[in-house]
Amino acid sequence: PFDVLVVGAGPAGAAAAIYAARKGIRTGIVAERFGGQTLDTLGIENFISVPETEGPKFAAALEAHVRVYDVDIMANQKVDQLVPAAQPGGYATVKLSNGAELKSRTVIVATGARWRNVNVPGEQAYKTKGVAYCPHCDGPLFKGKRVAVIGGGNSGVEAAIDLAGVVAHVTLVEFADQLKADAVLVNKLKSLPNVEIHVSAQTTEITGDGQKVNGLKYKDRVSGEEHTVALEGVFVQIGLVPNSEFLKGTLELSKFGEIVVDAKCHTSVPGVYGAGDVTTVPYKQIIIATGEGAKAALSAFDHLIRTPAP
Ligand code: FAD
Repeated sequence: PFDVLVVGAGPAGAAAAIYAARKGIRTGIVAERFGGQTLDTLGIENFISVPETEGPKFAAALEAHVRVYDVDIMANQKVDQLVPAAQPGGYATVKLSNGAELKSRTVIVATGARWRNVNVPGEQAYKTKGVAYCPHCDGPLFKGKRVAVIGGGNSGVEAAIDLAGVVAHVTLVEFADQLKADAVLVNKLKSLPNVEIHVSAQTTEITGDGQKVNGLKYKDRVSGEEHTVALEGVFVQIGLVPNSEFLKGTLELSKFGEIVVDAKCHTSVPGVYGAGDVTTVPYKQIIIATGEGAKAALSAFDHLIRTPAP
């Protein structure tokens, strides 16, 4: 059995495993993909002290850093269920989809999130070639260019306002007949000179020249007319989905499915911690996820030294 078992090996999980192992306690990490979302990222330019790197390189560095320590790594394993300890200080059980069961005194859930796709032709083909999901990450790559934002909720409208300050022109495309974002954001957006808004607009295709994005097609749902917008980038902002399905009924989740955590990464179950994009912590970024992973491990250690072993 483990003292600390980390579920997920993205930035949050890797940081948690390193911080736990440095305390000399029995540490395991179980995950489907070592590196998490960073594997799908082209350039990373905002991990402080690393001016520029690439996603797969960053993921490999995460794994190499974890391997410096005595950590039991179980990669390519999916977790299906978490069963909290029956009594305080007891062992929680983590069930894998291959049927195996792992026992640990504390569990850190760092299973991350995934961006909801719009599922139109061109989206997959031009991912990282003009199709983007994170304005904080990729906005500066489109400096002086034309982009579209798909989605008129809070994240879409915030993204459009943010991008309008960086790029030449923003077209916001919303499926519904009005923007769903808070009025203060909508008013701000409408005040910007380089933003165009289309509601009742169904994105039908992201077009490209084979190398990179060159346009977006949408259908006006009122007139039925098809339109094409010439541009260089498309930001898809229709939701970030936490990988927390397997925790329903076990941990308290927000209405968005995020694990509810406090400032020390405690969840609603003693001995179980949450870190990174899967939690309610705002601003889903690598540097934030690593900090949260470190915090969760220190909280788990704190719990272990205060709770008698079973
Ligand atoms: P993740 O990276 O999502 O890792 C989750 C881990 O949990 C993975 O190992 C996954 O396999 C595992 N997992 C999930 N479910 C299960 C399960 N049931 N069983 C077992 N394992 C499971 N951020 C930046 O700061 N800068 C950038 O430039 C940047 N660019 C980005 C570009 C793209 C295309 C994307 C998608 C994201 C980008 N981000 C960027 C955001 C950043 O990648 C995330 O904030 C960060 O990876 C979150 O780390 P995490 O450890 O919380 O989760």
